[in-house]
Order: sequence, then structure tokens, then C-alpha cells
Amino acid sequence: MLEFDFIEQIRARCALVRADVVLGIGDDAAILRPPPDRELAVSTDMLVEGVHFRAGISPYDLGWKALAVNLSDLAAMGATPAWALLTLTMPQPDESFVEAFAAGFAELAGAHRVALVGGDTTRGPLSVGVTVHGFVPQGHALRRDGARVGDAVFVTGTLGDAAAGRRCLEDRSGRFAALSDDVRDALIARLDRPLPRVATGQTLRDRAGACIDISDGLIADLGHIARRSGVGIEIDSFALPASPALLAACDEATRIELQACGGDDYELAFTASLSAANVAQRAMARSGRGATCIGRVVAGNGVRLLDGTGREIELAHRGWEHFA
Ligand code: ADP
Ligand code: MG
Repeated sequence: MLEFDFIEQIRARCALVRADVVLGIGDDAAILRPPPDRELAVSTDMLVEGVHFRAGISPYDLGWKALAVNLSDLAAMGATPAWALLTLTMPQPDESFVEAFAAGFAELAGAHRVALVGGDTTRGPLSVGVTVHGFVPQGHALRRDGARVGDAVFVTGTLGDAAAGRRCLEDRSGRFAALSDDVRDALIARLDRPLPRVATGQTLRDRAGACIDISDGLIADLGHIARRSGVGIEIDSFALPASPALLAACDEATRIELQACGGDDYELAFTASLSAANVAQRAMARSGRGATCIGRVVAGNGVRLLDGTGREIELAHRGWEHFA
């Protein structure tokens, strides 16, 4: 197969009609029509083999995850996803790889009504780049700089499963290698098929003060909110929400380390005044999704993880940093 055949294969798999796509895949550029009363939220994230995913990941999961991490950024802005671009670099032409990859991408794109409108396909080390565009009412995007002293800090879903899933794949002899298949599968699924909290992000508009999605690790990512907002943040380690699989998988110290610093969660962390948080919790409960209060915004700077007696827990590393 040639470059054009792959593009056609991806286009066929990801066909989704949107009235705001005037001209999609096939010309030198896509022509798109954003709603006149909306701001455009744009974000891009790339996944590189050996850095963001292991060589053995299923192509379906890779297609899913490449879009999921990008939709997670739109979720953190409170934006409604609309369009995506895909750049795919592969070492050799592989029809079945592209078929499964496009199927995973298309499954999540369809669920969020995202149209794939263009991209680029080249030969090289396996890597995937996705750019997403979404809409947000003017002046109402969720940002990192809106945290205020006295706000509570919340997180959606549960934390630490994806990082524990990574341990399951890396650990050949230790405790993670001895887990039951059910527990391992549940943890690895959270690593490979993150669910971007897109609806929750939209619910949080005008309710959350600041919001971020957790990719590098809770403490590291909350550090961005603290810095951009000019505040400090205290997190109660005992309040961090954990799944049954994670509770079964490790001791408390390991669990807290994975939850606080493991990353790849793609949950939303946000701050809200207590009255706004009540409104947000009710709105989220209606959509079947909740959030857990895990700490508070304080005067000062930085993020501190506290134990049950209020003492700071020292962390070996605070999260992912590519150039550390
Ligand atoms: P050009 O040489 O003008 O860059 P290409 O041959 O690279 O054009 O691409 C042809 C069309 O296919 C363009 O509309 C481009 O956006 C689209 N395209 C290429 N690769 C992908 C891909 N991986 N996913 C989606 N669309 C793609
Ligand atoms: Mg091109």
C-alpha cells in the first residue's frame, strides 16, 4: 500500500458528517466554519513509541489513546470537541496496523462527534500526533489561573490505576506481577483506554475556578494551577479516590505514590468555592459522574501532600518531566 491508500483507509474508517466541515480530507487544507459566537480551543499532543507507549500496545488502543489525551485537554478547558487532525509516522507500511489504529481512533471520535479533517502520513519511527479543535462560549473557558485562596480542590473519578497498569507491564517478578488477571486487566485498561472527561468539563464551566487534566501526575499538574494562580495547594493523601483494583494491587504507601505522582490518569482536577462546588457536584451527579474533595487552596505557593496528621509527605519525584 502507498501513502494515498493509507490516507483513504483512515478517511473511510473515520467518516463522520458535520455541517461545519465545508471541505475535509483530500485537498491541500480543510475548510471549517466555526460558530460565530464561540471561541476556538485548540490543542495538540503527540505520542512517541518508547516514551508515551510501549512497543507492544495494540494499534486499536494507540488510536484511541492518541485522541483521548487530546480530548482530555479540551475537557480541561470546558470546550466541546469538533475537529481533529492526525499525523501518523510509521516504520513500514502495515495495512492491518492502520486498520486497527483507525478503528480505535474512530470509536472515540464517533462517541464525541469529532470529525477528522486532515493530517499527514510519513515513514519514520512510530509516533502519532493529534490536534483537536473545540468550541467554548466567549470568555467562559476553564483556565489554570482561576484558583482563589479558600477554594476547595476536587478530582473526578479515581487516580493511580494507569500508573499501576504501567507497573504491571514493567514488573516481571514483584508484587504487580503476582496480581490476578482481572486486577491487571482493569489497571492496564485505564492506561491504554483513558476516558476523557469531556461532559464533566462542560459542566464545570462557570462553576470551577481553575481546571487541569491530569497527565503528568496530580501533584505536578496541580503545581501548574498553583503557579498560574499565585496560590498554594494542600492535598490530603487519605482523601485521594482509589478504584477497587488499585486497592487490591498495592500497599498504602505505593498507592499514594501512584495516585499523587503516577500520571496518565486523564481525570480533571479543579478548584471551586464551596458554594459553587455544591452546584457543580449536583450537576455532575445528574450525569452519573462525581468528584471527590481532596484538599484546599491556601496562601503561598507550591503543592504539599499531607498525611492524616497534617504532616507533609516527601515525594521521591513529583511527576513526569521529559527533560529531567
Ligand atoms: P499534501 O502533500 O498537500 O500535504 P497529503 O498527500 O499529505 O497532501 O494529504 C492529502 C490529504 O490527506 C490532505 O487533505 C491531508 O490533510 C489528508 N491526510 C494526510 N494524512 C492524513 C492522516 N493521517 N489523517 C487524516 N488525513 C490525512
Ligand atoms: Mg502532507
